[in-house]
Amino acid sequence: MNPKLIDGKATAADITSEIKKRVSELVQAGHPPPGITVLLIGDRTDSATYVSMKQRACQDIGFVSNIIKYPKDVDEDQIVKKLNELNSDPLVHGILVQLPLPPHLDEKRITGLISIEKDVDGFHVINMGKLAMKGHEPNTVPCTPKGCLELLKRYSIPISGKNAVVLGRSNIVGIPMALLLLNENATVTICHSKTENIPEICRTADILVAAIGRAQYVKRDWIKPGATIIDVGMNSIPDATKKSGYRLVGDVDPDAYDVAGMYTPVPGGVGPMTVAMLMQNTLNSALKWYATTAHE
Ligand code: NAP
Repeated sequence: MNPKLIDGKATAADITSEIKKRVSELVQAGHPPPGITVLLIGDRTDSATYVSMKQRACQDIGFVSNIIKYPKDVDEDQIVKKLNELNSDPLVHGILVQLPLPPHLDEKRITGLISIEKDVDGFHVINMGKLAMKGHEPNTVPCTPKGCLELLKRYSIPISGKNAVVLGRSNIVGIPMALLLLNENATVTICHSKTENIPEICRTADILVAAIGRAQYVKRDWIKPGATIIDVGMNSIPDATKKSGYRLVGDVDPDAYDVAGMYTPVPGGVGPMTVAMLMQNTLNSALKWYATTAHE
């Protein structure tokens, strides 16, 4: 098999430049630039890194981005008050609360307070519910699974009628991924930590999406020849050859790639697409707002 790499980095760069062009046209036409506000609570370095990546992308594209930082012991009422203010701020089209939150904060309540029109992460229960129900259109779809679907589409990988296996059932990746594939008429199986015979189930997959957070867990002999592998996993493993002492790997063992027809590498696969989809969700949110105001 001569597998073909699905280049998430290049695809994300294409999408980003499409958005950048659109933003510049909108601003020239007199609209305020799309605006996104991120609430960063606590002192987790991984969260701070993700937020600064998102801010860099926003600045590059021409969005107005604002990060509001809170200490890890912030009172929940302060966050609630800020979210209410942001919900009614006409220059803020996207609101994002970086997860995970410190344990004393109620994640369900806080994510549920973001107005569904500004929920650019797509984690609001109404947006997720609409994704799950026939005949409903969610305002936004979670960025990582949306990015995976975009890669499948841009690489013309057939989905309808195919067997798709999703490893993982988290609210942010596994479940919405499975729903998106189902909505594209795939026959979808979801596996989780209690699933028996995972290798056997994986061997039925024309499209295998791995999102479990276990370094190189999916092995070569689990792959149906010619299948498409979408590897969402981002795991650090020790690597003495690196200055940092570690490197990033996916949930799929790279030995499996040459059995596949196509695959996303880690890094450079799904990761860059997640940020690009956040930009796209924010642009869409701003476009809907322009359409309902005097800025039209
Ligand atoms: P999560 O919330 O920890 O969920 C992991 C899921 O995997 C759970 O549903 C769990 O099952 C299942 N699981 C764990 N071990 C398993 C095993 N041995 N066999 C089968 N299923 C197993 O993780 P997540 O947030 O979805 O993230 C998953 C991975 O994607 C992580 O590596 C994360 O860093 C990465 N990620 C990447 C991006 C990106 O932009 N590239 C974005 C988000 C996440 P149970 O439900 O039974 O516990």
